[in-house]
Amino acid sequence: MARPRTYRHDCRCPHCGSSWVIKDGPANGKQTFLCRECAYRFTPRTTRHVHPERVRQEALRMYGGGTGMKAISRVLGVSRDFPDGRRETRITGCAT
Ligand SMILES: [Zn+2]
Repeated sequence: MARPRTYRHDCRCPHCGSSWVIKDGPANGKQTFLCRECAYRFTPRTTRHVHPERVRQEALRMYGGGTGMKAISRVLGVSRDFPDGRRETRITGCAT
């Protein structure tokens, strides 16, 4: 009996781009994933959430004009930690 293919929506193989990946055993304390398409084994990378330049400029302009971060985030829909940049929103490629 063939195993059903399980496609992940939150994770793609960095080698071939397939979303047909499965969880593999942990290595060095990190969860690894295995691509069923090309057998490439990988660990999910942490990527930084980058705001578009336009939003960044607008936020800085408002911030410079004395607008509070709370108001800016409400208007632009960005993180309240922005734009001081010390705390950045991090999203992982794969949920573990
Ligand atoms: Zn692959």
